[in-house]
Amino acid sequence: MSWPAASALLAPLAPWFEAVRRDLPWRAGDLDAPHPDPYAVLVSELMLQQTQVATVVPYFARWMARFPTAASLAEADEDMVHKAWEGLGYYRRARFLKAAAGCIATEGWPGDLEGLAGLPGLGPYTAAAVGSIAFQWATPALDGNAFRVLARLLLIEGDPKARAAELRTWLAPALEAHGPSRLTQALMELGATTCGPAPACESCPLAEDCGARRAGRAAEIPPAAKRPKPKVSALWLVALEAEGHVLLHPPAAKGLLAGLWRWPALEIPDFPAQAAHGDFTAWPAWTQVYTHRREAVAPLHLHLGARFPAAEGLRWIPAGELPSLAVGKRDQRLRDLLATPGQRPLEAPDPAALMRACAGPST
Ligand code: SF4
Repeated sequence: MSWPAASALLAPLAPWFEAVRRDLPWRAGDLDAPHPDPYAVLVSELMLQQTQVATVVPYFARWMARFPTAASLAEADEDMVHKAWEGLGYYRRARFLKAAAGCIATEGWPGDLEGLAGLPGLGPYTAAAVGSIAFQWATPALDGNAFRVLARLLLIEGDPKARAAELRTWLAPALEAHGPSRLTQALMELGATTCGPAPACESCPLAEDCGARRAGRAAEIPPAAKRPKPKVSALWLVALEAEGHVLLHPPAAKGLLAGLWRWPALEIPDFPAQAAHGDFTAWPAWTQVYTHRREAVAPLHLHLGARFPAAEGLRWIPAGELPSLAVGKRDQRLRDLLATPGQRPLEAPDPAALMRACAGPST
């Protein structure tokens, strides 16, 4: 490693951050002291995994009003926790946060990085971020933004994540010198606002010493990660309604969709397109994007005259209870559509086929 000393190279970041930093609700005013509420830092870091700052801000405010302490979250009903997370996606984070709060409420905060990394849901990055921002530990937190900035600054060829251990060792003295909380957040902020995929080098405090800028290679470093082509599927997402009830899958106890109610979803190829005979409403389809796959979702509302015995894994729920149930992003969208006028579709699955797919044995 022949990089210049981090404390000198990153020195311009501290005054820059003081001048430009955004006033975010989880940010402490005094960046030289431990954070007055480490739980707020933990909540924000879990919410910010995979989610943009602007989306997180209102969720954070509501969450802190509802679960103001680790103890209150640990004691909260799991359905309430899922409901409060509704719309943020990646619901495992909510369950991890509740489990971590339980550990903190009973055993107190861990005293070192290893202890933080042992809390549910805290990988190496989140543990280091909480350590530096909440407790002022010199624990370098490298997320995608930080890797991108440092790869450009130090003109690192290839994937900078392969050099994570070296980068952490290199960065630690700079955290000591400029304040762990300040420097960690400054690096994140620079990556989020200035040194993004299209870098704005002209307004960057590190421009003078930046290797990639001087080499005219800022836009090509780090190399874009090769992602496998996402799998694409197509489905009908169906709100079946009868006698004031709607048909839903109750939440699974574990797995990615634990805690979430779901509409029945039917593979489109399973249903030959036929003229609709029932009381259908449809809305334009949309593409739901997940990390490794995509779904073309065709939303549909079918109003039936009477309920039928639901198949195993499905349950009739009073329609009035729908707003209080926690549902994932895709299913939330159909729930919202039910309140807006749709149209009778030109093509729709055969109502009888739909019912066969959703009905259990007659009793
Ligand atoms: S000068 Fe440009 S490439 Fe270098 S750190 Fe700043 S924004 Fe990024």
